[in-house]
Amino acid sequence: MKIFLYGIREDEKSYLNEWDQAHPGVEINYTDDIFTSETAQLAKGSDGVVMVQTQPYQREALKKLHDLGISKISVRNVGLDGFDFQDLRDFNFSLTYVPVYSPNAIAEHTTGLILRLLRRVPEFDKKFANADFRWFPTIGEEIHGKTVGVIGTGHIGSVVVRIMMAMGAKVVAYDIAPNPALENLGIYVETLDELLEQSDIITIHTPLAKKDIHMIDQTAFDKMKKGVIFINAARGGLVDTDALITALDSGKVGGAGLDVLESENDVFQKKFDSIKDVKDPQFQALINRDNVIITPHTAFYTTTAVHNMIFDSLNDNLKMLEGKAPKYPVDISEN
Ligand code: NAD
Repeated sequence: MKIFLYGIREDEKSYLNEWDQAHPGVEINYTDDIFTSETAQLAKGSDGVVMVQTQPYQREALKKLHDLGISKISVRNVGLDGFDFQDLRDFNFSLTYVPVYSPNAIAEHTTGLILRLLRRVPEFDKKFANADFRWFPTIGEEIHGKTVGVIGTGHIGSVVVRIMMAMGAKVVAYDIAPNPALENLGIYVETLDELLEQSDIITIHTPLAKKDIHMIDQTAFDKMKKGVIFINAARGGLVDTDALITALDSGKVGGAGLDVLESENDVFQKKFDSIKDVKDPQFQALINRDNVIITPHTAFYTTTAVHNMIFDSLNDNLKMLEGKAPKYPVDISEN
């Protein structure tokens, strides 16, 4: 059995070797290139492929894979918005993903963003750099006693709910399908508007379905409390970035923690000579503010998560190749 992996990073290699050694009957090959129509042929001779990328999966590349006789794809992350499922159906692919590699990683990062904004860490960092160790006027706020709105209470959002409650926040949650494990907490509101209107801090943890592109738009920001802290560690496309910039300009949003951006593919995972060299106008409109923290889609990036992404994706790819039921199949019958 041969499995080919795309987009392998340096930090994944030790886990890849560990899995490889535990599966002597399976030949592993890989490239650091992502999966495109140019790199598709690298998988020639393989039985299955494993990949991860933020760039969209090209139809032409999938067709090439199909022409190589490969029909089992495993992605080693949760987000599937890079696929057009119609392409997968057209070329008869089976797909698995890794839905729960570490919800704690993203929930803890979200908490960190909230705390850094409330305690004005970017401003203190700047003062420190100027040897200014005075407190005033950089006084902070506490999570304790605040109302935290959690949109989407699945794997990640539910951990955020529990962390925020443990820190003494009042949590209000909105979900199109409330999580039965949280229903006894009495946190759910009926509509997104109620959450937007009541919350001092809002954090979003829903997938990016086509219908939810720009779920948080100008109208949504208008409904929020003045000075609200807004966090997005889910998907950039859920938020209308121009509307967010307007809301920051007006003071409607008092602070934003963004681990994902609409235009992140042009910026994240790249090295520039200086911040000024980043050409993306939305990034430039956000980056130089004391009340905005951008992290480059690193909420997931912990040793636990990376280990699980490699192991779970390879295990499932092998299961499909062996004709067994994978742990995390994706229903591609519609999207
Ligand atoms: P999940 O599927 O476990 O939970 C999502 C929840 O959102 C579900 O309960 C669902 O019912 C709810 N939901 C869906 N559409 C909704 C809507 N329109 N309004 C309200 N609720 C809605 O997903 P998850 O694993 O918790 O992931 C959440 C998000 O985090 C996804 O966008 C995922 O891509 C993203 N993510 C980001 C990182 C990162 O590093 N920043 C890492 C992993 C996942």
